[in-house]
Amino acid sequence: MNKTTQLYEGKAKKVYSTDIEGVYIVDYKDDATAFNGEKKGTILGKGIINNKITNHLMKLVESKGVPTHFIKQLSDRETAVKAVTIIPIEVIVRNIAAGSLSKRLGLPEGTKLAHTVLEFCYKDDSLGDPMINEYHALAINIATQEEMDVISKYAFMVNDILTEYLKEVNIELVDFKLEFGKTLDGTIILADEISPDTCRFWDCVTHEKLDKDRFRRDLGGVEDAYHEILNRLMGE
Ligand code: UDP
Repeated sequence: MNKTTQLYEGKAKKVYSTDIEGVYIVDYKDDATAFNGEKKGTILGKGIINNKITNHLMKLVESKGVPTHFIKQLSDRETAVKAVTIIPIEVIVRNIAAGSLSKRLGLPEGTKLAHTVLEFCYKDDSLGDPMINEYHALAINIATQEEMDVISKYAFMVNDILTEYLKEVNIELVDFKLEFGKTLDGTIILADEISPDTCRFWDCVTHEKLDKDRFRRDLGGVEDAYHEILNRLMGE
């Protein structure tokens, strides 16, 4: 399989078309951004780690019934995935208050939520990814009701699968962001990544942050935290 055209370059990944129909290649970078691109930096080795962690967790959720874009890891930084059109919605699932939810609702970080929270944000950097609800998604034609139902069902499934799995390695799944895509035949599948860039992972006992908040908040030990997650998940 060979890359043909670069289709997209995002903050953390590049996506290429290939000479095989319906297959893209994702290439993970070490670049990191936060606060809608205002803060920029590099996390050495992040691309390699996020590629591995994402593929490991995509395989796990796929095995438990959530269809994903994962096909095969090709190299340290590259993975073959099913070609999709990304639905421009960031799907956020929260178990414990942190980040923007803590600010919005005045809840101290670490407050256990009495019910899982599902949020949607419209993926548009120029608007700062505003929070929307299902009615907005239908109103601006970015998804149908049936698609929103499938997306919500899969998001809760991913939460249950990952929460249980991560508990075994002493990681608390605080919150995370998912993106879904549509294949040519209209099937909705999980796309993008599941990594310390897109999830809040806290140590169950010490509540130490093992994710991108170390970069966002200048806490130091960023690379070590990403390594720690890889090590707990895959023993590497
Ligand atoms: N998140 C993400 N990309 C975004 C916004 C959020 O991956 O553009 C993830 C983030 O890592 C966290 C969850 O979604 O795990 C909830 O983020 P929050 O809304 O609290 O925003 P933040 O505090 O990161 O600005």
